[in-house]
Amino acid sequence: MAQVSKNSRVGSSTHKFLCPCGGEIKMKTVFANGKKKNYAECEKCKRQERKPSDFK
Ligand SMILES: [Zn+2]
Repeated sequence: MAQVSKNSRVGSSTHKFLCPCGGEIKMKTVFANGKKKNYAECEKCKRQERKPSDFK
């Protein structure tokens, strides 16, 4: 009996996000108050949001 896994969608973490200005959004990590914090920043207009999906 061969079972085929339908949940084999791994390895799609290279998702690119673009800012409305056309710049590429990069994830950044900073340490603040001993805590690791992630945020997204546009390479072009330097706009910062908490998540890449907030660029709209
Ligand atoms: Zn931008």
